[in-house]
Amino acid sequence: MTEIAHFISGTPTPGTSGRSQDVFNPATGAAQNTVALASAAEVDAVVAVAKAAWPAWSKTPALRRARILDRFKAILWDRMDELARAISAEHGKTHDDALGEVTRGLEVVEFAVGAPTHLKGEFSENVGSGVDTHSIRQSLGVVAGITPFNFPAMVPMWMFPVALACGNTFVLKPSERDPSASLLIAAWLTEAGLPDGVFNVVQGDKEAVDALLHNPDVKAISFVGSTPIAQYIHATGTAQGKRVQALGGAKNHMIIMPDADLDMAASALMGAAFGSAGERCMAISVAVPVTDAVADALIEKLVPQIEALKVGPASDAASEMGPLVTAQHLAKVRGYIDGAEAQGARIVTDGRTFRQDKQGCENGYFIGGTLIDDVTEDMTCYRDEIFGPVLSVVRKPDYQAAVDLIHGHEYANGTAVFTRDGDVARSFSQDIEVGMVGINVPIPVPMAFHSFGGWKSSIFGDHAMHGMEGVRFYTRIKTTTTRWPTGMRADPQFTMPTLG
Ligand code: NAD
Repeated sequence: MTEIAHFISGTPTPGTSGRSQDVFNPATGAAQNTVALASAAEVDAVVAVAKAAWPAWSKTPALRRARILDRFKAILWDRMDELARAISAEHGKTHDDALGEVTRGLEVVEFAVGAPTHLKGEFSENVGSGVDTHSIRQSLGVVAGITPFNFPAMVPMWMFPVALACGNTFVLKPSERDPSASLLIAAWLTEAGLPDGVFNVVQGDKEAVDALLHNPDVKAISFVGSTPIAQYIHATGTAQGKRVQALGGAKNHMIIMPDADLDMAASALMGAAFGSAGERCMAISVAVPVTDAVADALIEKLVPQIEALKVGPASDAASEMGPLVTAQHLAKVRGYIDGAEAQGARIVTDGRTFRQDKQGCENGYFIGGTLIDDVTEDMTCYRDEIFGPVLSVVRKPDYQAAVDLIHGHEYANGTAVFTRDGDVARSFSQDIEVGMVGINVPIPVPMAFHSFGGWKSSIFGDHAMHGMEGVRFYTRIKTTTTRWPTGMRADPQFTMPTLG
């Protein structure tokens, strides 16, 4: 087993803390590597490197910064396959799914290459006699990204392309469960011409995160992960005077109206609930059919498709759904199905009975697709984010009851309605209190030039990721008011100055 290192100042750098942890192959259940876990002192040293790189990088013309990112983008296109394989080896997702993840991340690089346009300022001539005003956005300094296991390439790419394009230097603390993708990204950024120290990776766990939160040279923190940790990051980071955007967990509902195309809705639910083994913050985990007749017809369509799901390792091109990420997570997901059964829900298809018989994968963290009917609001399987291939069905008699259900949940990341009725679709889009909305689109992940973020307990802080929200998060505004000698006043002014 080799130890997965940090990446500091353009070079892979072994850890010195003496602490490390195993990194598993979820498809086999075997530990394949270890990852270094940084001490607070190591984190402080990385931040110092990033701080030293900031003055020159922030003064580099935005066009030149963008060209480096453009070269990185070309490398990503060429080596997408290699990155996807590194993701699958530690996360477990299928190869095609990993390729999709890389593509969605790459789109943020494409957006960031437009930095010279995004950073254009504003100018007002003659705001007073002989006085002009202009506003510009400037970088913050060292910013940090703390990312979850479920998108080891895409979620970092929600952050650093925009941060770097805006002139910040970056310290990434990836998930310790799948840390390798971050090292490929770091090496390719260096190859693209990024100066040393501008992008760094520090591997680690809570100790590293706490060191970033308390280091005064870290000016902003972008976090994506579970809600309790997002809340902690936001509270601690803002108390330290930092900007924080912290995206948390989700429980995404999809309403199926009686006029919906049920074949389309069922097939959308299959991908949205079981793709990536349900380990997506935009996965649909609650189907809300309106009327019992719709529920019965929908379940009839879903059951054979769930039973036919090809669950297997990423090494098998036929696999449609891979394993869960760890043995602990598998136990947790199974526990939620046990709990649903004990609380009186009906297990329609039971993923707990799935056995993986592919040679070498018998001990992988596999579970089959699970459909649970007659779920009610008070059940734990409804209230909690399960983050596995488990679809709950909550039946509702009418549209308003379905909307009330969504509004009663603490999470508000994404949601969807399937309908042919334009009025229903329009009022859903306008009135629903959720950050990302799909109309006949099950996973409405905004494109890179829009911004990604939920509402309520799915986000802490007020800036979504990427798009212009990302540019605003990673810059601060400066407004300069200018007067030249012909407009100057000779007399001292002791009253509140006014222009005009
Ligand atoms: P997690 O919260 O366990 O970990 C996220 C990051 O926080 C990791 O880098 C981890 O090392 C660090 N961390 C973990 N425990 C910590 C602690 N006690 N103190 C400080 N740092 C800590 O999340 P995860 O299991 O890796 O990812 C899954 C979660 O992420 C799900 O809840 C999912 O909904 C959420 N997620 C949300 C979005 C979104 O955009 N809202 C996107 C992807 C994932």
